[in-house]
Amino acid sequence: MTRALPTIAHLDADAFFVAVEQALNPALRGKKVAVGGRERGIIASASYEARACGVHTPMPTSQALRLCPELILVSHANGMARYVEYSRKLFDLCETLTPIVERRSIDEGYMDLAPCGLATAPALTMAIRELQARIQRTLGISVSFGLASNKLTAAIASKQHKPHGLTLVPPGNESAYLAAFPIGTLPGIGKKTENLLKSNGITRIRDLANHASPAQLQSLLGSHWHDFVAMARGEDTTAVLTEHEDAKSYSQQETFPRDTADSARILRTAKGMLDALMPKIRADGKRARTLTLKVRYPGMDNATATHSLPEATDLEAPFYPHIGTLLRTAWRRARTPLRLVAIRLSGIENAAATSTQPRQLELFSEKATPPRPGDKPARQSARQRQLAAVVDAINARHGPSSLRHGHQL
Ligand SMILES: [Mg+2]
Repeated sequence: MTRALPTIAHLDADAFFVAVEQALNPALRGKKVAVGGRERGIIASASYEARACGVHTPMPTSQALRLCPELILVSHANGMARYVEYSRKLFDLCETLTPIVERRSIDEGYMDLAPCGLATAPALTMAIRELQARIQRTLGISVSFGLASNKLTAAIASKQHKPHGLTLVPPGNESAYLAAFPIGTLPGIGKKTENLLKSNGITRIRDLANHASPAQLQSLLGSHWHDFVAMARGEDTTAVLTEHEDAKSYSQQETFPRDTADSARILRTAKGMLDALMPKIRADGKRARTLTLKVRYPGMDNATATHSLPEATDLEAPFYPHIGTLLRTAWRRARTPLRLVAIRLSGIENAAATSTQPRQLELFSEKATPPRPGDKPARQSARQRQLAAVVDAINARHGPSSLRHGHQL
C-alpha cells in the first residue's frame, strides 16, 4: 500500500551533542567544537565548522586535534544527562504535532502525520516547517527532516539538506528519488556487502532496482535479496511505532478542518475521543487514572489541563464530568478559535491487579443495563463495565462506533 500523501517524517538533529552544548553555552556557537572523550577517546559529535576542518565522527580525538588544533573539545562524560533531557524535550515537541512518534535513537526518529488530518503536501510541509522553527526557538537546536510516503524514503531524505533541512519526496517519486544515491545508502547494506555489490557493477540504488538477474542477486545478497530490491524501488510498508509499546499512555487528537471557537463542538469532540480510547484500554486489560486535555491555538502554541482520579478506571463515566472543566482550564483564551483538541490517558495500570471485572460476559443479559439512579457506586461501575463490554463487543463485531454514546449522535 502506498500512501497518497507524504505523511511520514524522519527527523535527525544536526550535530546533536554539540548543538546542546552550544544551546547551553552560546559562546560556543559558530566555533570549531566537538564533543568526545579526551584521552584515547573518539569524537562523538562535531560542529559544522569543525567538519569543514576535516573532523568527523567517529574519529580518534588525537587525530581530530592534529587536524584542527584550535578545536574546542567538550567532554561528553558529564553531558549525557543533558543530552537525554534535550532529547526528551525534542520528542515531546514532536508529540505536540502527532501522537505517533517513534524514537529511534537519542536524536533520530519517525513521525506519522496521518492523525494531523492535513490533506495536502504543502500543508504537511508547512506543519513540519513550523515544528522545525519551534524546536529551534524553544530548544536552540536545529533538526533536519525528510518527508515522504514511507519510513525508508523519509530517512534517506532527512540527510540530504543538513543542517536545518527539509526534503520532501512526493508520493510516487520514491524510486526516482532514490535512484542516484550510492548503494551503501540503503539500510542493511554494510561495508562488506557494499564492496561486493560495487565489484559486480551495482554502485547506485537504481542498479539494484533494475537488476535483471535474480540468480546473481541471490548469490550476492542471500535469500532476502528481494527485500533489498523492494527497498531499492522505494517500497516500504513498515509502520511508525510509538515508543510506548507497553502503553504508558493512550492519546488521540483531532485537527479541526477550520479553527473553531464552538465550545459545544469541541467538548463533543473531546468526549468522542475518550469514547474511542477507553475500549482500547479495556481490550489491553488496562486502566487509566489521569486525563489530560490539550488545546492548540492557530499559532501552534498549546495549553493543557490535567485531572487524576483517586483510582484508575477502565470506564468512560468517571472521566466524563471532568472534561468540561479541563477544557475551560486549558482554553484560557476562550474566544480564540482552536486548531486542535487532544486527550491523553495516562497513569496506566494493569486491570488484573485491581480488577473485579467479570471474566465471562453475558451479552445482552439483563445484567448489562445502564446504571440506575439509586445504585451504589460500586454496583454502578460493575453495571457500567458490563455495559461497556457489550458495547465493545458489538463494535468489535460490526465495526468501530456501530454503537455510539449520546454526545456523539
Ligand atoms: Mg543527528
